[in-house]
Amino acid sequence: AQSALDAVGRSATLNAFLHVDAELTLAQARAADARIAAGQAGPLTGVPIAHKDTFVTQGWRTTAGSRMLANYVSPFDATVVEKLLAAGTVSLGKLNCDEFAMGSANENSAFGPVRNPWDQEAVPGGSSGGSAAAVAAGLVPAATGTDTGGSVRQPAALCGVSGIKPTYGAVSRFGIIAYGSSLDQAGPLARSARDVYLMLDAIAGFDAKDATSHDIPDGWLSRDYDASQAAQAAAGVRPLEGLRIGLPREYFSDGLDPQVANAIEAALRDFEALGARRVEISLPRTELAIPAYYVIAPAEASSNLARYDGVRYGHRAEQFTDLNDMISRSRAEGFGTETQRRILLGTYVLSHGYYDAYYLQAQRLRRLIAEDFQKALREECDVILGPVSPQAARRIGENSDDPRADWLSDIYTLGVNLAGLPSVAIPCGFDTTRAKPLPVGMQLIGNHFQDGRLLAIAERYQ
Ligand code: GLN
Repeated sequence: AQSALDAVGRSATLNAFLHVDAELTLAQARAADARIAAGQAGPLTGVPIAHKDTFVTQGWRTTAGSRMLANYVSPFDATVVEKLLAAGTVSLGKLNCDEFAMGSANENSAFGPVRNPWDQEAVPGGSSGGSAAAVAAGLVPAATGTDTGGSVRQPAALCGVSGIKPTYGAVSRFGIIAYGSSLDQAGPLARSARDVYLMLDAIAGFDAKDATSHDIPDGWLSRDYDASQAAQAAAGVRPLEGLRIGLPREYFSDGLDPQVANAIEAALRDFEALGARRVEISLPRTELAIPAYYVIAPAEASSNLARYDGVRYGHRAEQFTDLNDMISRSRAEGFGTETQRRILLGTYVLSHGYYDAYYLQAQRLRRLIAEDFQKALREECDVILGPVSPQAARRIGENSDDPRADWLSDIYTLGVNLAGLPSVAIPCGFDTTRAKPLPVGMQLIGNHFQDGRLLAIAERYQ
């Protein structure tokens, strides 16, 4: 554990870690050693991990990448944190992220951008940029992240690691700083689909402390995963025989960088060699996922972030005239630009007179988008394969005068969250036209609670 912490210290230029505390880490390492000595070790016992700074942790600060929570220390652990501790993992600390998980490049953190280990001039993706960079740099074999509209999958893809956005309701949101509650899901990032599976198996499951946690029997994930692996083994030299991979026409159109398209094409040929076949499908409302998401997520965020008023939680301004002035100054000082933009947008779409035109309309779109996925998965294919991001990682600062450019690049990830589906991102190649080769990822989307099957398929490809 000490040498892992030393490596974190040597990698400070990446800015992946926000809070480390050697005493806390070493105490967890001693507890893991004791379990190993007592013969009670599981697959994750003694494995170093780290948490995105949106998971509350006893001991380490939890800032969610915001000045608003710069000194916040939670009195309890998030359920995910608690479960990983119970599995014997050893936390090295907390990982940088976009402020309140709002962003796609990790440039919205109050504590500075994270650098992509493949090219330090490039972004690592976001919002779980610290998590992806830490895994890609080999600082931890696995890390936690959260995915509201792509925040596990997109940084995983841009840093060349694997990650899952689980089925909505599969992993407890208790103790995760809320962004868009109907979309938020926690998911692990790791080097391989196998490691992602081991992490997800440790954190998934019903939790009475999260009202949207799904009451699904223990072991659902491993049963699905084991059954898929057994079926693959029985199929012999073509383990994915008969698997119908749906390729949404709308995901392979103009906006997709040819380097990404080529990497995915090569992966598809590998899948075909394993016995799978391609089916062209259509997700006709793909483009509408952007306006639907960028109404619903800010609407929920404006409500979730109302609690940071400098009274109950968060930064409090030092100078003010009265209570209202205190609250508005505290929020103006505590929240960064993108967070303020989202709060204003969210408050607007929920306000009297606009609610029907924007929020309700977005909810209708959400239902139609979910139905498109259901139709494809019911009638045409077993899984859906597509890009994660239209291009490999861009340069730090490249979109700084146009925040909407990043919103548009979320086009392939948002639909999955709106529909509550699971999706696994895995690396599939490189963009070799850049100053340094940069990783390219793809995602495999399945129906609700097929997370285990998706991971078994991803593992076979890897
Ligand atoms: N890029 C999206 C956003 O900024 C998704 C972020 C996320 O999944 N947390 O909202």
